[in-house]
Amino acid sequence: MEIHRLKAFHDNYIFVLHDPTHNRAAVVDPGDSAPVIQCLADLGATLTAIFNTHHHSDHVGGNQRLLEQFSQAVVYGGAEDRGRIPGQHIFLKPGDTVSFGDERGEVIFVPGHTRAHIAYYFPPMAGSEWGELFCGDTLFAGGCGRLFEGTPADMVSSLTKLRQLPDQTRVWCAHEYTLKNLQFAVTVEGDNAVLRQRLQDVQEARRQNQPTVPSVLGLEKLTNPFLRWDQPTLQAAVGSQNPVQTFARLRGQKDRF
Ligand code: ZN
Ligand code: FE
Repeated sequence: MEIHRLKAFHDNYIFVLHDPTHNRAAVVDPGDSAPVIQCLADLGATLTAIFNTHHHSDHVGGNQRLLEQFSQAVVYGGAEDRGRIPGQHIFLKPGDTVSFGDERGEVIFVPGHTRAHIAYYFPPMAGSEWGELFCGDTLFAGGCGRLFEGTPADMVSSLTKLRQLPDQTRVWCAHEYTLKNLQFAVTVEGDNAVLRQRLQDVQEARRQNQPTVPSVLGLEKLTNPFLRWDQPTLQAAVGSQNPVQTFARLRGQKDRF
């Protein structure tokens, strides 16, 4: 399986999974159809699946147009998103799996950004050392999504599930927010040498207009404050010893950053 990263709108990413052996493709969160149709034409592939993480329009806005062109494509989303994802056929529940070609993805329920948000995790495939995580607006490189329909406790529980995945997991998040996220992160954990180095690397990458997605989960665990609510340094920075309260205060500070 090859993964192609497409740009959409101002800072969104759309991911196309390509199975070259069978000339078929799947897409994750097609907020816009145009770049996906162009990519599929370039690949000469047929679209067989749309994997949505949540109902926001910058993630599902291209569904309908893609279904017009690829009527056999199956639209996946969380069961709780019933009525909110255009064209949804499959209503995924915790423990469900999805398949694309020979690959099988685990569906992880990650409420917080929205109450129905799900992530898709594909364990390392034959010949690869990397798991692939498509996490929408839940986990970002250096940050996490805003809480629109969930509580801090929901989000901590969701991010705990993602944090348990192997370090060798690529994080395919849906927005290029990394630089701003890391600029915030150093304000709460300025003594973290790995974080400071990462900020430098990302500054350089963005100066050259390079994408910072996917990121690597092992590095997220060391540098992303929203996976580090149990670190004493971060708890001291926000004046709490409670993980959920630490997370909530970090999230609040980031909202105002
Ligand atoms: Zn969203
Ligand atoms: Fe989004």
